[in-house]
Amino acid sequence: MTLLELSEVSVHYGRIQAVSGLSITVEEGEVVTLIGANGAGKSTTMRAISGIRPVSGGSIRFDGEDITRLRGDLRVVRGISQSPEGRGIFPGMTVLENLDMGAYARKDRKSLQADFDRVFELFPRLAERRTQVGGTMSGGEQQMLAIGRALMAKPRLLLLDEPSMGLAPQFIQQIFRIITEINRQGTTVLLVEQNAQQALSRAHRAYVLETGRITKTGTGRELLADSSIKEAYLGVG
Ligand code: ATP
Repeated sequence: MTLLELSEVSVHYGRIQAVSGLSITVEEGEVVTLIGANGAGKSTTMRAISGIRPVSGGSIRFDGEDITRLRGDLRVVRGISQSPEGRGIFPGMTVLENLDMGAYARKDRKSLQADFDRVFELFPRLAERRTQVGGTMSGGEQQMLAIGRALMAKPRLLLLDEPSMGLAPQFIQQIFRIITEINRQGTTVLLVEQNAQQALSRAHRAYVLETGRITKTGTGRELLADSSIKEAYLGVG
């Protein structure tokens, strides 16, 4: 079943067109990745899906319904949750408080404990640091907290914007392993990454974004083997 469908989506910042007629689909159960250089429009696409940024053209459908003009908080209620680029945790709040904020839109608050347990199982480090103030944690830990917070909304579609950005190598491996595990547990994932090697090895399908347009698509494996992708994004030629 198609969970998310963007058709001919365009997004502007004033007169700058950041995304131009972009069409992608995400099937339920998939990990799909968007790769592309700096400024290609990856974050803008994610913002359009989560509703932070309005679209100037095209349509967005989620679970069969048109959500193009739906408010961002109502998209969270429908099951779209984003872990934003640059983490965006609440630095003055503890780990527990940050996670609780992620559940603000939930109506089934009674079942929250199970989701705290799930997050702490995926990220034992957060369990150890549950009373620590977010802003005093390392970059890798804050990244885990941002993903954990997004999971507390119990999303059907998890949007991850550059989860490996700025992380030490041992954290990078760990974050990608956890993304695969989150997907295995039943959450559909749309992943934006500059670490194309890791993203393509983890993704079922991928799209390449260049200056606001999709220039290539295929399975993760196909794109890993594609010579122009190797040259442009994988540092081998
Ligand atoms: P990065 O990996 O550097 O975040 P990206 O692929 O996510 O890159 P976007 O951040 O979506 O790219 O940016 C796409 C285009 O839109 C770029 O030309 C960028 O300069 C422009 N842009 C992004 N945010 C804004 C903004 N708030 N105001 C004006 N222009 C913006």
